[in-house]
Amino acid sequence: MREINTTQIKDQIKELFLKANYHIDQELRQRLEEALSEETSSIGKSVLQMIIENNKIASKEEIAICQDTGLAVVFVELGQQVCIVGGDFTEAVNQGVKEAYEEGYLRKSVVDDPVFERKNTKTNTPAIIYTEIVPGDKIKFTVMPKGFGSENMSALAMLTPADGAAGIINFIVKTVEKAGPNPCPPTIIGVGIGGTAEQAMVIAKKAIARKIGTPNPNERYAAMEKEALEKINNLGIGPAGLGGRTTTLAVHIDYLPTHIAGMPVAVNVCCHAARHAEGIL
Ligand code: SF4
Repeated sequence: MREINTTQIKDQIKELFLKANYHIDQELRQRLEEALSEETSSIGKSVLQMIIENNKIASKEEIAICQDTGLAVVFVELGQQVCIVGGDFTEAVNQGVKEAYEEGYLRKSVVDDPVFERKNTKTNTPAIIYTEIVPGDKIKFTVMPKGFGSENMSALAMLTPADGAAGIINFIVKTVEKAGPNPCPPTIIGVGIGGTAEQAMVIAKKAIARKIGTPNPNERYAAMEKEALEKINNLGIGPAGLGGRTTTLAVHIDYLPTHIAGMPVAVNVCCHAARHAEGIL
């Protein structure tokens, strides 16, 4: 067994949330530049220029890319030969989030009792933690500060097997069309197909963190990603919803085995501030 102390976990989570809130990754920066050169609408071009400029300033000055610094989502791949010592794992993750949001001057956006009190927890915790046990003696973290303008536009459909690829693509495109300007386009669309209702949603969210421009390794699903992207970008919503071709930068589909009677399809929408960072302990 390899021992990993909760202090290392707390420090890693803190570092990753600060990094994700300040720096858009290289692949997304490149995709935004490509979109700028491909965009035909002049207002669309000027919005993309502003997004690119905003990202450069945030990175250089280490300030938040967006005022909505998101709900703290953490995907954990925990090696089964790891022994966590020195305290409680969940507390360590939440402490890392708390310190990052405090020290980085990041907005705390979490409210408890969502129906009545809606009282700010003042720490941006609790984090949403998904843990998968994997072989090995390491812990991999993928953190995602998830903005809610885009999260609010997400949708789930329990389609039937007979709906097939065409029905799924139609649902993806309709979800983006209905969202219009609300998710701060250009977006990245994570799609989860299969499993159960809630599993489809989780893999849709994780798909957003895939390196942009990397298609699904299964060529039939990669073809669905391509077709959905093309149809979405024909809607004319454009950057910030002001018209143009660049409504979505990428569609990332992931899938799981499912029941013979079902076809859950989850669409998790992410804005152009698609922030995520990875680290391994
Ligand atoms: S949806 Fe994204 S870009 Fe829009 S306000 Fe929220 S975090 Fe910012």
